[in-house]
Amino acid sequence: MLDADFFRRWMTATAAAVDREAERLTALDSPIGDADHGSNLQRGFTAVATTLEKEDPQTPGAILMLAGRQLISTVGGASGPLYGTLLRRTGKALGDAGEVSEEQFAQALRTGVDAVMVLGGAAPGDKTMIDALVPAVDALGDGFTAARAAAEEGALATTPLQARKGRASYLGERSIGHQDPGATSSALLIAGLAEANG
Ligand code: ADP
Ligand code: MG
Ligand code: MG
Repeated sequence: MLDADFFRRWMTATAAAVDREAERLTALDSPIGDADHGSNLQRGFTAVATTLEKEDPQTPGAILMLAGRQLISTVGGASGPLYGTLLRRTGKALGDAGEVSEEQFAQALRTGVDAVMVLGGAAPGDKTMIDALVPAVDALGDGFTAARAAAEEGALATTPLQARKGRASYLGERSIGHQDPGATSSALLIAGLAEANG
């Protein structure tokens, strides 16, 4: 079972990874975006970590909903509402249980990813965070390590794609040949699950 501590560790591990990788995420956002993805998420996940400590929510659902709200209010740019929706909707789907099974979590995360696709209108293959998140959710039944590998593979596989959503889509064919920053940060988020579990 996954308890509130697991979800706190997930958010803390993700905040640390985003901090560590912020420069790389911003560098990826430079040729096909506006070079702010690392700083956007760094600001957001720092706020998440601070708020979780201060407000100390006690259930998995409450932790993720608070984290999502915080991302929406602190991250300017496309990724804030998208990541915020992911965590808020995943948290909402977990309800007020004190702990949840891995299977319940996998289902909830799928609900969250579906909500991101509705909000942003992106499908797999559009060269967005969805290209890491959908394979991760599909692999989650095989465990967190499998989900991490699937997300990393999905992020790498965005390189040859032409962007059809977000800022990178303005570049048309010139978006080909660059790894998507949002898919890369999504792989960090999923890697945080394996880290929180280990
Ligand atoms: P902005 O483009 O507003 O500067 P960020 O740089 O923080 O925002 O985030 C860019 C990332 O957001 C992209 O790499 C992509 O993965 C993701 N993204 C952008 N638009 C969408 C969308 N409509 N659906 C899903 N993901 C999107
Ligand atoms: Mg950007
Ligand atoms: Mg921006």
